[in-house]
Amino acid sequence: MARSYNFSAGPAALPLEVLQEAHEEFFDFAGTGMSIMEISHRSGVFIDIARQAELDLRALLQVPDRYKVLFLQGGASLQFSQVPMNLLRGKASADYLHTGLWSGKAIEAARRYCTVRIAASSESTGFDRIPAPAEWRLDPGAAYLHYTENETVHGVQFATAPEAQVPLVCDACSSLLSKPIDVSRHGLIYAAAQKNMGPAGVTVVVVDEALLDGAMSVTPDVLNYAHAARADSMFNTPATFSWYLTGLTLRWIRRNGGINRIHQANQAKAWLLYRAIDASGGFYANAVRPEFRSINNVPFFLADSTLEPLFLRQAESAGLMGLKGHTHTGGIRASLYNAVDLPAAAALADFMTHFQRAHG
Ligand SMILES: *Cc1c(COP(=O)(O)O)cnc(C)c1O
Repeated sequence: MARSYNFSAGPAALPLEVLQEAHEEFFDFAGTGMSIMEISHRSGVFIDIARQAELDLRALLQVPDRYKVLFLQGGASLQFSQVPMNLLRGKASADYLHTGLWSGKAIEAARRYCTVRIAASSESTGFDRIPAPAEWRLDPGAAYLHYTENETVHGVQFATAPEAQVPLVCDACSSLLSKPIDVSRHGLIYAAAQKNMGPAGVTVVVVDEALLDGAMSVTPDVLNYAHAARADSMFNTPATFSWYLTGLTLRWIRRNGGINRIHQANQAKAWLLYRAIDASGGFYANAVRPEFRSINNVPFFLADSTLEPLFLRQAESAGLMGLKGHTHTGGIRASLYNAVDLPAAAALADFMTHFQRAHG
């Protein structure tokens, strides 16, 4: 079997061990004679899987008891609307930090439900940084402050969670479980699974109980966090197979030493690529200020952009897949999520050096 080095931005690489486990029990889950996909979500067998996934997530993130952990559908994009629907709690406005493409989408979606105040933006400098907290114009009357922990397209990441007097809402779609995060400082954290913790189809929401029960009256029941919490995320049929695979991936992260170990590995992978970029004398360039560079997504450009198609073709021939940059920015992007290992990053760094030697 030949496995590619997979740098996709999402859906992204899954651990081979997880795929093998799922493969082994694909036709007959735990002696039931049925695939996990063919079993009721109300069955004891599935409820055990769901419980274990929640326990593992709670352990990995050290989630305090007062938070609910939900396994929902609709992707992180649905949270752009579901958050204001549920968390405005009668208030008229919410604060947003605009740091790249994804926070921009969250802002656009929220405008349908409330007045969106842009507390700070780095748009004028091409999203090359997180604006300095001293420049933020926060509103103490805001329903919440929303930030995007890691901007997946621009490759910009917060070094620490913002300080806020209002509930802090975090889009951690591309970084949850890749580095430590202090849940207790947040009102709500959301992330779709298909980057660092599983396949597409499941969205994890960690929410402070105190914020539930204030949903706008137009909120469909299926989008009401309080209903989801009361029904253990089974208000309607959940995405059972994605939930199960996410569970296997959470177990894998725990087996591999948990968040601190995985964070160290992620830093080492990112360092290899940024070093290759910085040592290239301008052949490769990353526009983000070093202190805000993402460990999850490394976007870069070739000074001679006409070489980019050749770079991508030769990379694919070398088994390095998924490197084409987002359509919005162009260029190259290497995503280094949890299941991408150090040898993959090393192979890409080597390839970059060789490509430069041949074409620099
Ligand atoms: C991928 C991503 C999203 C969108 O996720 P979907 O599951 O495709 O809706 C939102 N925010 C960030 C930061 C992302 O990386």
